[in-house]
Amino acid sequence: MASQSVTPDYTPAAIEARWQEAWREAGAFRTPPPSEGEQPAYIFSACPFTSGSAHMGHIRSYSISDAYARYLRTRGRSVLFSIGFDAFGLPTEIGAIKNQLTPNEWVQQCRARMRDQFDRLGYSFDWEREWVTSKPELYKWTQWLFLLLLREGLVYHAEGQVDWCDNCKTVLASLQVEDGACWRCHEPTRLVERSQWYLGISRYLEENERGMELLGGWNPAAVGAQRTMLGRVDGVELDGATLDGTQLTVFTPHADHVDDAEFVALSPSHPDVDAWILDDEVRAQVARIRSGGIARDERGADNVPIVDSGRTLGIAGYRDPLPVIVTPAVDARFGRTAVLGVPSVDRTDAAIARRLRRGASMFAWKLPPGPPRVREAARYKARDFPISRQRAWGAPIPLVHCDSCGTVPVPEEQLPVRLPDDLRPTGEGNVLAQREDFLAATCPQCGGAARRETDTLDCHVDGLWQWFPFSAPAGERENAMFSHSEMERWLPVHQVIWGADGGGSMFDQRMTAKVLRDVGVLPHIEHGEPHERVLMHEMVHLDGRKMSKHLGNVVDPDELLQRVGADTVRLAVLYAAAPTNVLTWTDQALQYCRRWLVAFWGYALPRIEGVGEVPEPDPEEGSAKLRARLDNWRGVALRRITENYDGLETHRAARNVMTLVERIRDYEQRVIRQQGELTASDTAALQSALLTAIQCLAPLAPHVAEELWAAAGQEGLVALAPWPEQ
Ligand SMILES: [Zn+2]
Ligand SMILES: [Zn+2]
Repeated sequence: MASQSVTPDYTPAAIEARWQEAWREAGAFRTPPPSEGEQPAYIFSACPFTSGSAHMGHIRSYSISDAYARYLRTRGRSVLFSIGFDAFGLPTEIGAIKNQLTPNEWVQQCRARMRDQFDRLGYSFDWEREWVTSKPELYKWTQWLFLLLLREGLVYHAEGQVDWCDNCKTVLASLQVEDGACWRCHEPTRLVERSQWYLGISRYLEENERGMELLGGWNPAAVGAQRTMLGRVDGVELDGATLDGTQLTVFTPHADHVDDAEFVALSPSHPDVDAWILDDEVRAQVARIRSGGIARDERGADNVPIVDSGRTLGIAGYRDPLPVIVTPAVDARFGRTAVLGVPSVDRTDAAIARRLRRGASMFAWKLPPGPPRVREAARYKARDFPISRQRAWGAPIPLVHCDSCGTVPVPEEQLPVRLPDDLRPTGEGNVLAQREDFLAATCPQCGGAARRETDTLDCHVDGLWQWFPFSAPAGERENAMFSHSEMERWLPVHQVIWGADGGGSMFDQRMTAKVLRDVGVLPHIEHGEPHERVLMHEMVHLDGRKMSKHLGNVVDPDELLQRVGADTVRLAVLYAAAPTNVLTWTDQALQYCRRWLVAFWGYALPRIEGVGEVPEPDPEEGSAKLRARLDNWRGVALRRITENYDGLETHRAARNVMTLVERIRDYEQRVIRQQGELTASDTAALQSALLTAIQCLAPLAPHVAEELWAAAGQEGLVALAPWPEQ
C-alpha cells in the first residue's frame, strides 16, 4: 500500500505543484451540474482590480473563502466558487499607461499573473466560471443594467456638485474620496459643478433600511457598514414659510433644542433651492460656490462657503423669523435637505453662527404664539452619486446624441456598444472623443447620423451586478445573463466574503437586487436581499498601518511563497487573527506555522504511511481506557472545528486542529508510559485520529493534507472526501 511518491522531508515546492495539477486533472473544483436534492452554496468573494498582482489583502480574503469552499464541498454541498476581475476603471487605465500597453493587454497581463499566483496558493476557484468586466459579453450586461435603471428613472442626468480629481481628470464618487484625497492618485480633490449621470438610490433607502432586519447572517461589521452607508439621522422636522408664503420643511437632530435655533441652512443641492433664491446676486454667489469648486480645506465649518439667501423663514412658535443661508455644510451631515442651525449644541452650527452677520436689515414679522410644532423625522446621508466618467476605459454609456431627437438610448438588441479593441488612453482627456470609428452612430429613432456618448460608466456600476455572472456558465453569458435558469439555483448568494471596504458596494447591490425584483428579473428573491450571509473581514496591517503600495509597507506574496510555500502562507494568514480583527503581519506567525507544519509532517507521515483502511480496535486489547479518552478528544475537536468552519472562524479552526494533534501525541506518550508500546488496536486508534486531523487541516493547508492522505493510502482526494463523522 505504501505510496512510492512519499517525500521524506517536508518540501512544499515538491508537493504543492503536484497537487495543484492533480486537482486540475480531476476537475475537482468544477461547479457541479444540478442534481436532485442538492444544497447549492454560492460563495462570493470580492473581485480584485487588474492593477498589478495579488497583495496580502487578497490573500487574506481568498484564504478565508477558499477554506470555507473546501469545507462545504466535503459537507456534500454543491459549491459555486470562482473569481472575477474588476478590469475597468482608473486603476487599470493608469496601469496600462504606465506600462505602455493597451488596457486590454494590461488586463490580460494582470489576470494571467494573478491567476498564476492564486493557483500557486491552491485556491479552489472554478476557472471555467471566471469572468472579466472589460470583456464585451460582460459589459453588454452592464450597459443593459444602465438602460434598465434609466428606464426606471433611477439613472438621471443632472448638474451637481461632484468630487473632481485634477490629476486623474475625472469625477469621483464620494466613496472614492478618502480623507479628501483621490483613491487612486492620493492628490487632493475638490468639489465642482458638472453635468453628470447620477445613480438615484433614494427610492430604495427605506427598503434597504427595513431589509436590515433580514441580515441575520451578516457579521456585525457588515451590518454596521450598511448602517453607516444609510447614514440615518433621527430628529424632528418643522414646517416654516416666508412672508410671501413659500413653504419649507426644516429638519434638526436636536429635538430638545429646537427653541435655540438661530438660522436655517439649506443644502445647495436641495430640490427647491432655485425656487428659494430670488435675488440674482445671491444666485450668482451660489453658482460661484458650485463652479469654482470647493477645496478640501474649505469643507470644514470655519471655511465652508456660506451664502446669505437674503430671506427669512417664519416657523410657528418662534419669536423671530430665522435667516436662511445656503451652504454645502448641510450635505455631508444630513443629505440634500434644510436644517435648523442650533449653535448651542452643534459645533458646526456654532462656527457658522460666528461667521454670520446678522444685520439690522433683516425683515421681521410677527409669528403666531405657542410652542413649535414638531414631528418625528429622519434624514439619510446616503446620496445619489455620479456614475459617468470622462475616461475611455469603462463600459461605454449606451446612448447616442442626435441633432433631431436629442439623447437616445441604444436599443437592447444592439448591445454591447463596443470599445475599440486597440484603445490606447494617453492620460490626457478621453481618447474616445477622438475616435471617429467609435463616435459615428445611427440614431435608433430617426435613422439619421448621430454621435455616441463618450463618457463611460464608473466601475462601481460593474460592481452593482458583480454577484451575477458566476451563476451562468461562461459560454452562456452572452445570450442569457439575468434570465439564466441557474440564477434561481445560486441566488441569493450563500456567503459573501469581503474586506472592510465593501460596505458601499454591498449597499448598492442590495438596491440593485430590489430594482431587479421590481422589474421581474429576480422573482424568487421576494425580499430583495441578494446576500444571505456576509463576512466582512478586516485588513492586513504592517508597521501599524494598512498595507498599501502607496505607503510602501507591503509584503511580497511571491517572496513568501518562494520561501515557505503556499500551505504555510495560508495557515499563517488564517491562524494569526480572527477574520474580523486586523491582521498585523509578522514573520513570527509565519515561522510558527512553518515549524508546526514541519513537525506535523514529521510526526504524522511515519505513523500513517500505507495504512489504508484503519481496522476497528479490539476492546479487549491494549489501552481501551486511553483510547476512549482519545476518541472523546477527537469528537470534541471535530465538533468544535465543524462549528469553526460553519462560522468562518478560521483562526479557531487552525488552533483546534493544532490542539487535536497535540492531544494525539499526548495519547501516544501516555500509552507508551503505561504499557511500553502501542498494540495494534492502540495504533489503529492513533491512525484514525490522525486521519481526522488531516481532514480538518485540509481546508487550511490543502497540499500537505493531500500528500499525507495519499501517503496513508486513502482513496481519492482529501479535498473531495466526505467530512469525518462525529
Ligand atoms: Zn486622482
Ligand atoms: Zn434622431
